[in-house]
Amino acid sequence: MTPICLVGIGKIAVDQHVPAIDGSADWTLAATVSRAGSVDGVPAYSDFDQMLAERPDIPVISLCLPPVPRYEYAAKAIAAGRHVMLEKPPGATLAEVQALETMAQTAGVSLFATWHSRMARGVAAAKSFLADKTVTAGKITWKEDVRRWHPGQDWVFDPGGMGVFDPGINALSILTEVLPAPVHLQSATLSFPENRQTPIAADLRFSGGISGAFDWRQEGPQTWDITLQAGDDLVELQEGGNRCMINGQEATLSELDEYPALYARMAGLIKNSSSDVDLSPMIHVADAMTLGQRNIVAAFAF
Ligand code: NAP
Repeated sequence: MTPICLVGIGKIAVDQHVPAIDGSADWTLAATVSRAGSVDGVPAYSDFDQMLAERPDIPVISLCLPPVPRYEYAAKAIAAGRHVMLEKPPGATLAEVQALETMAQTAGVSLFATWHSRMARGVAAAKSFLADKTVTAGKITWKEDVRRWHPGQDWVFDPGGMGVFDPGINALSILTEVLPAPVHLQSATLSFPENRQTPIAADLRFSGGISGAFDWRQEGPQTWDITLQAGDDLVELQEGGNRCMINGQEATLSELDEYPALYARMAGLIKNSSSDVDLSPMIHVADAMTLGQRNIVAAFAF
């Protein structure tokens, strides 16, 4: 089993990363780095430099921090010769992730910019079905309650936090994975709370008849759906991609859940001395921020 260090013991580390590592035969959680969090029975560091210096036995670092502080940690880890996994979105800017990719290549380590939603269990079936088709229309509906999924996390509304695109980029990661040909953004409307720096809702229109409605104010049932029409064929991805209907029939699902699949992929990348850094979902978000019309809406408080 390969020793791994988790950095940033917040919501996603506790909810997903720790159980995925614990449940894998590939990995052993050998250390954590966090200012406040820890995992029972695992050596806990509060200083990243100290962990890197004292634990040469740990070759892999998984960064679960929010996107803004992540670059500095990733750069240090690569400089120390460690393989690196990045939570999504992989950074605060496109250029910093490209810089990390170059650093990793030079250092001869693996860099994995993860997109957990691409590993949702219905995504591979949708991709395979659409591979030889022409998508003629599509709709993303991604509506959830920010208070439920990011309780008290003000960073999502700070510059670099991406607002509603923090979850919305999950939909875009699926879209860019399953479409047989790329699309580009043509227009966007972004709704910014009057007291915040990032949007709480967005409507996007892409080439190829594809649109997206993203909203972080949805209470009650949560909606993470993508429907894609290819002529007479209909692909419906539901539950964040974990259910796939093809022409009304349930498709066969992938075996592993999202985070176990990410860690299995990381093990494969290291074995093959390769990296996986696809920025296409983040390019759509950057384009929305560049092209989007700005609406001011009611102030938001957690
Ligand atoms: P979070 O609960 O706020 O946790 C972030 C962790 O990083 C905490 O341990 C935190 O502080 C540490 N941290 C925060 N700001 C930092 C800074 N400036 N410098 C150093 N450490 C800092 O956030 P999260 O929900 O886990 O999200 C983290 C990443 O996972 C995001 O990119 C998010 O998009 C992604 N993600 C989240 C979810 C979700 O449902 N929440 C789902 C999938 C992916 P301490 O060091 O004080 O512990």
